[in-house]
Amino acid sequence: MTAPPAAGGHRWPSGRSVVVGVIGDPVHHSLSPTLHNAAFAALGIDWVSVAFPVAPGALGAALPGARALGVRGLSVTMPFKEAVAAAVGHTSPTAQRLGAVNCVVVEPDGCVGHNTDGAGFVAALGRGAGFDPAGRRCVVAGAGGAARAVVLALAQAGASEVVVVGRTPARTADAATLAGSAGRTGTPVDARGADLVVNATPAGMAGTEGAEELPPIDPGLLGRGQLAVDLVYAPRPTRWLELAAGRGAATLDGLGMLVHQAAMQIELWSGRQAPVEAMWRAVADRAGEEPAPRG
Ligand code: NDP
Repeated sequence: MTAPPAAGGHRWPSGRSVVVGVIGDPVHHSLSPTLHNAAFAALGIDWVSVAFPVAPGALGAALPGARALGVRGLSVTMPFKEAVAAAVGHTSPTAQRLGAVNCVVVEPDGCVGHNTDGAGFVAALGRGAGFDPAGRRCVVAGAGGAARAVVLALAQAGASEVVVVGRTPARTADAATLAGSAGRTGTPVDARGADLVVNATPAGMAGTEGAEELPPIDPGLLGRGQLAVDLVYAPRPTRWLELAAGRGAATLDGLGMLVHQAAMQIELWSGRQAPVEAMWRAVADRAGEEPAPRG
């Protein structure tokens, strides 16, 4: 007996399906399978994306296991981005510089680690706000993994200055060095007069301890002619973005970065141009309501 076609009119997944996945701990809130599967459906290819919860201590077995099972690629989320960078045989120059991998391509001769977070962020700036970082003054709040990817990408895109505002001096200084001669550490008042101000801290993120907190840059420092970007996308918009918009700043939430970093993963795995609009539609309604989704 033949299985009836799925809702999309196709018979996938099938015995020939190419499998990709997302690894993390926890991973059940991840929007990556939704994004990837929307892309595969729009491209009309027999691929499927699933979430693989990986227990602490099991990462060393997960990568060879994925290879043995013929998994084509893995998206990597918390807390494994740094550990995967150390575990894969090869890394792209960007992933190597960041010491963090968010995408693994499983090749016949080994796993290759990439990091699409920063390029996804810059793509989202262009697509969502018409903003080109070249020659612009940028301030980034936070010094964690997302901030580091954003700082490096802004410098690579030609920003004239990238100021990192953090709360742990050593981490803040280390993040600023990623921007080379354009980078320095700073304080919240550096946001006054900057072209771009980014929140790359989890402050304000639904479903976390910091849900009621505001990011360290006072929205009162922002105004017309500036773009405020919050990497947080639950809720959409965040209170910080609402306050920035109230001051006259243009605003952008983190959903665009999420979509574009996933689109670049599709392109690395499949060699095809990702259907960004279809991916966007698949998560636009869900992103704001999920408790603390990541990657
Ligand atoms: P990390 O834990 O790696 O880093 C968080 C950073 O924020 C650290 O520098 C930390 O300080 C700082 N921080 C944490 N809480 C506060 C606070 N209340 N006030 C001031 N600073 C604070 O997290 P990530 O970099 O991975 O993620 C940061 C945010 O970005 C998360 O909300 C995440 O969901 C979001 N994100 C969004 C993506 C997207 O596609 N839109 C992609 C990746 C992340 P310290 O250095 O002292 O620890």
